[in-house]
Amino acid sequence: MKFFPIISRRTNYVGVSRIYSYRKYKDEISEDCAFRCVYCDCHCNSFGGHAAMELDHFRPKSERYFPELEDDPANLLLACRSCNGKKRDDWPMDKLGGLTHFEGVGYIDPFESERTLYFHVENCGSFSAKEDPAAYMIEQLALNRPFAVAVRARRILRGKLHAAIDSLAEELRSMEGSSPQAGQLGRIADLLQEANRALRKLELEDCPAL
Ligand SMILES: [Zn+2]
Repeated sequence: MKFFPIISRRTNYVGVSRIYSYRKYKDEISEDCAFRCVYCDCHCNSFGGHAAMELDHFRPKSERYFPELEDDPANLLLACRSCNGKKRDDWPMDKLGGLTHFEGVGYIDPFESERTLYFHVENCGSFSAKEDPAAYMIEQLALNRPFAVAVRARRILRGKLHAAIDSLAEELRSMEGSSPQAGQLGRIADLLQEANRALRKLELEDCPAL
């Protein structure tokens, strides 16, 4: 299962002309960020849709940091309410340094760095740190809060389910017009079992009381 899709910024942001703030860029920023919170990697649908998402000023717009970047779309990222609320004005770097992180502290720009080089996703949906400053970001933004871990765990299970079904279809297609070869029926039974296991876990996640 692929986490943290590679994202890239469009070269020119147009914005919605009737909105007079940085919020006019939300649709374009959302699309550039693949409709996922750039920090916890949860899709906006996990939070009830696009309206529940916020725009994070990567370099904080507060007076003591980068007020001149408030309306600069190239400084905006899509974030869920929880990640954005925790990041706020946290910017441990010296403004003039130009760096976004240093000695394990700070943030990686998701448009500049491939996030999979920094974060590993465990089978249970938790993030673990591969490279600095991932540990700082996990702690600071509470990226392993139960909700985000559960959303990522379901994504992993769905991925396993799709993979098992695809392999099953491929196995069955290869049998077309001929008798099953040695081991083929066993492989099909294993794949069905794998798909069933993933499905049962997903059902338990959705209805834990049952
Ligand atoms: Zn988030």
